[in-house]
Amino acid sequence: MVFNIEPQERKIFEVISDTARELGYPAYVVGGYVRDRLLARPSKDMDIVCVGSGIRLAQHVAARLRPIPRVTVYKRFGTAMLKHRDLEVEFVGARKESYRSDSRKPVVEEGSLEDDQNRRDFTINALAVSLNEEDYGMIIDPFEGLEHLEAKVIKTPLEPGKTFSDDPLRMMRAIRFATQLDFEIDPETLEAISKYRSRINIISRERIATELNKIILSDEPSVGFKLLFDTGLLELFFPEMTALHGVEGRNGKAHKDNFYHTLQVLDNLSHKTHDLWLRWAAVLHDIAKPPTKRFHPEQGWTFHGHEVLGAAMVPRIFKNLRLPMDAKMKYVQKLVRLHLRPISLTKENITDSAIRRLLFDAGDDIDDLMLLCEADITSKNPNKVKRYLENYELVRDRLKAVEEHDHLRNWQPPISGELIMETFGIQPSREVGIIKNAIREAILDGEISNEYEAAFQFMLDKGKEIGLKVHQNNT
Ligand code: ATP
Repeated sequence: MVFNIEPQERKIFEVISDTARELGYPAYVVGGYVRDRLLARPSKDMDIVCVGSGIRLAQHVAARLRPIPRVTVYKRFGTAMLKHRDLEVEFVGARKESYRSDSRKPVVEEGSLEDDQNRRDFTINALAVSLNEEDYGMIIDPFEGLEHLEAKVIKTPLEPGKTFSDDPLRMMRAIRFATQLDFEIDPETLEAISKYRSRINIISRERIATELNKIILSDEPSVGFKLLFDTGLLELFFPEMTALHGVEGRNGKAHKDNFYHTLQVLDNLSHKTHDLWLRWAAVLHDIAKPPTKRFHPEQGWTFHGHEVLGAAMVPRIFKNLRLPMDAKMKYVQKLVRLHLRPISLTKENITDSAIRRLLFDAGDDIDDLMLLCEADITSKNPNKVKRYLENYELVRDRLKAVEEHDHLRNWQPPISGELIMETFGIQPSREVGIIKNAIREAILDGEISNEYEAAFQFMLDKGKEIGLKVHQNNT
């Protein structure tokens, strides 16, 4: 079969082809680029394999392109990369790989195109397009990759057990591709993942997390999590999540399965946002349900405080998975901690003060929190779903009205600590904190407005109450 070369790639293909011929290096486009183009998915990374020096080929290609791109050489890996328009093109010499059992780093030697295709992880990733004169544009498909693209199947080119045992990261990649592309994993390949799952332990958490994040960023992340769970992989690197699985019943009362509930929340939210960290908040929102689970004969199952304990668990989980321990982690933590608050505002007779407190606590993340809460509605009863969504709509209206009036989203105290110290002629002390807190509480309770004048007067009264005197210079 011939590859349909699009006009925008014709130029770069021709330059590579001409250069490779002059150097005497047979050259091919391989892997993800070919796969994605055949699936009509956007692809910005192009891998070129040549039988010769990839670095030399890259340098000669660069000299012919306009403007001449910079070539980044990775000597240790024998690869070179250049950017052309919005494409990143990587060049490597064809290689043959063999593995030892204790490492995913193979012994690498020079090889043929065939050797290079043999070392690829899946049949759909082993497709190559020739850039050579004699068969320019032909698709070289040694493992029925085209058929598997059509049938939407992920399958290893060689024996799956060996493929996964050699490089266990491929198990994560299989599940990631199945999720991203909405493909099935071939039964034998899937069975080998279960069988060799414990090999994942030789893979660094960073690499596991990179694949996990790609799963989370897919259109339907639940597909990947179910595969990770069913194969036994998830348990090995994210046991807190598998602990959510299962239903317990007592005295005829059963709770829902929090694993599948979490996955539904994640899918629901993924229809509304592509933000990775907001999606992570969905993954973790109920993470502390297992450790907070209690059974009461009258109430049935409860999970009191799971939002607080859940927020406290976030840093350890992020650390274990080598996710960033920065503002993103804090953001996820905050959403987990606050995820029950909007529902409490759907009750009747909610005061403005409760609304103000949520605005103050959530700040700029209030809209994300509302999205998470709406995604958290997983009832199968459409009438209930409609009613809950309408309730949240009312909460949104109240939030908007209070925000317009009080501007609490990014609340800055109208009276600073310095002004308090100056007014009463005091040094940094407990009293300053007491007055600042009292001003904040009075504003949130609606006792005074969120303005300088009102807050200044309140500060004077509060200071007097705790025995402070206005400093001479300020009278
Ligand atoms: P994406 O860009 O979505 O990650 P990709 O298939 O382009 O998908 P890369 O990681 O860029 O993924 O890898 C490029 C190609 O290299 C793959 O298509 C595959 O042929 C090969 N490859 C990558 N990782 C492995 C691996 N662990 N084992 C075997 N082959 C691999």
